[in-house]
Amino acid sequence: MPVEINAWTISAENNDITKKEFLESIFSQANGYMGVRGFCPDGSKVNRFSRTTFIAGFFEYIKNGVTDMVNQPDFSPVEINIGDIAKTSERITLDMRDGSVTWRRRATGCDGRITDIEITRFLSLDDFRLAGVRVKVKPVNYSGTVKISARIDGDVANLPIADDQMIDNNETVEMWGAADVWADGSRGGVSVAAAVSGRKTAAAFRIFTENISNAAFTPELGERSAGVSAEFNVCKGVVYTLEKIVAVYCYRDSPDPKSAAKAALELPESALRFDCLLNNSRKAWEARWRDSDFIIRADAELQGAVRYNIFNLIQNAPATPGVSIGARGLTHGRYKGCYFWDTEIFMAPFFMFTNPAAAKNLLLYRVVTLPAALSEAKKFSLSGARYPWMSSDAGREQCQTWDTGDCEVHITADIAYAFGRYLEITGDDEFFTTAAEVFIQTARYWLSRFTYHKETGVYNLLFVKGPDEYCGVTSNDFYTVKMARHNFLLAIEAVNRMRREFPDDWARLSKKISFDSEEIAKWRDAASRSVMRRDPARDLFIQDDTFEILEPLDIAAYKNDDRPAYQKFSFDRLQRFQALKQPNVLMAVALFPNDFTEAQKLAAWEYYEPKTLHDSSLSFGVHALVAARLGLREKAAEYFRKAVFLDLRDVMGVTAKEGLHMAAFGAAWQALAFGFAGLWADAGETRLDPAPPGEITGAAFSIWHKGSRREIDIDFND
Ligand code: BGC
Repeated sequence: MPVEINAWTISAENNDITKKEFLESIFSQANGYMGVRGFCPDGSKVNRFSRTTFIAGFFEYIKNGVTDMVNQPDFSPVEINIGDIAKTSERITLDMRDGSVTWRRRATGCDGRITDIEITRFLSLDDFRLAGVRVKVKPVNYSGTVKISARIDGDVANLPIADDQMIDNNETVEMWGAADVWADGSRGGVSVAAAVSGRKTAAAFRIFTENISNAAFTPELGERSAGVSAEFNVCKGVVYTLEKIVAVYCYRDSPDPKSAAKAALELPESALRFDCLLNNSRKAWEARWRDSDFIIRADAELQGAVRYNIFNLIQNAPATPGVSIGARGLTHGRYKGCYFWDTEIFMAPFFMFTNPAAAKNLLLYRVVTLPAALSEAKKFSLSGARYPWMSSDAGREQCQTWDTGDCEVHITADIAYAFGRYLEITGDDEFFTTAAEVFIQTARYWLSRFTYHKETGVYNLLFVKGPDEYCGVTSNDFYTVKMARHNFLLAIEAVNRMRREFPDDWARLSKKISFDSEEIAKWRDAASRSVMRRDPARDLFIQDDTFEILEPLDIAAYKNDDRPAYQKFSFDRLQRFQALKQPNVLMAVALFPNDFTEAQKLAAWEYYEPKTLHDSSLSFGVHALVAARLGLREKAAEYFRKAVFLDLRDVMGVTAKEGLHMAAFGAAWQALAFGFAGLWADAGETRLDPAPPGEITGAAFSIWHKGSRREIDIDFND
């Protein structure tokens, strides 16, 4: 196994070059403000986009209207020159208690000199614009000279990834204009402005040393890089330490990021030393773990995997407002860093129960981009607010494949659903008036998006794509209609509550949005007369208008591992099989456990589960959740393992190429909390209805519900 999983640590021997990209995904680090892939600070720069560093919410246009998440100046580099190396052995360890990653290496030179090197990097969860890299060098069997350097490398570019994962791009895009570089013996930095928008980033560093004289360092300036280096004498058995403390500021923090980054490093030395900053960060992690840990009585490997899922959700939760979490967080440029329904449906529930402020922050991104969603609806000649399938900083559609970008419209209702769940779970009444506008504008969108059919008196939802993206462009997608109906009900309830409880706010809002009281009746009508297919004979909800005339597919004969089928079959061909990419009716069953009878849930499971390819990383966790609730223990356990080990064990074979799957982390947590522990909470009390898989015998975790913290400890054997 390339990755060892323990209760609090993840480790790997780094000795197989074919695993390089995979390990770089696994050991990705972030603190909600910035993120780096898990490359070693002293690793080689294969090309200008191979070592990526991202700042959450920092996008730049790569063509008309289309953005990419910008590869930022690389703040990590350190170099240790000990002559030509004959062999090395390296072990990487991630400590999930403080987010630090350490590379421990023994290097044997061609001249027989043996050197132990330890490099640790952390991104502070406490002061999220700070990061630290520490190098320890120990000559094991010699005394002589060693050269060491530390740098900020602003010579980076983007390699935008096409939305269609089968298309390889090899055209880099220059994101940055001219650079401003500076360095003296212990400080330096790079400030750059994005080529089109002029948005700035500055990364500054300051070094501290032990057993190396600071005076030994001389500045090294390049056109786009700034650093310091020193060659010094070393004695056998002595440890030489270099600490590089980095401050990163961007246009969203200050009009003058360069001065801000420099100033951040002017604190007294004692406050900036590596151990001090790491300790502060560890305390911030401890606080997060106190509310977010999910202890299971199971083996250490499963426990560590559960924590890894939670760890990555925490790492990627935005530290600043107006930002959401991309499908791959800050771990990869896949999907151009964009935000999907992944956030609201898969990740947000975790935050609602463990860190309501972070959940609210995610929803605020949709509040900030509401004006853009209103414009998006207009662009489609529709009313209200239409949220984009793929969204970046400005909230405009970023999806470049029309069938998905134009037709996968359920995201608008997914967002309303998440606002509704947030209000129920947190009881955050202050946020209600803000949410009300979202409920109303999204309901308006849906009313304009349905097509009323006079002869039959029903509302059809034509030309849509459900979460099962292998359904073609279809009509009356069950999941989308169910979500839209719920959106109408949320809007109706919002208007009623506004009138009842917040009359002054309502007077203002209704005027602002030109509310017409007849709208309520229209929403109610559409909510009750929109088409949701059900075959009464089988008590089965049918996915859409064409599902049952698609060509049957013998999945067992066709797919024998967990790799996505689109790697072997044309995406187009997949549209005409009776095979699902990911749950659709079962997705609705997962989100509305109280709206279906047990018989309906079981009928849906028995019909759709065998037809599902699980070609999306979002699929396994949802199946685990639904199976657990249905008491299908073996299926629940099997799906849960795939969800919880998805990246750690590279279940789908895409972790190297795509980075970490944030929604899968959220889905695995939901399978644990809502499935195995059977947690359900709405505006009423919380309920627990455990349905554990055999390998977990108990669980302890805490939740926030309506402002109170509740500790839960369940013995599954009771
Ligand atoms: C899935 C979507 C998901 C997107 C981003 C796609 O492959 O089908 O449901 O939102 O990936 O994770």
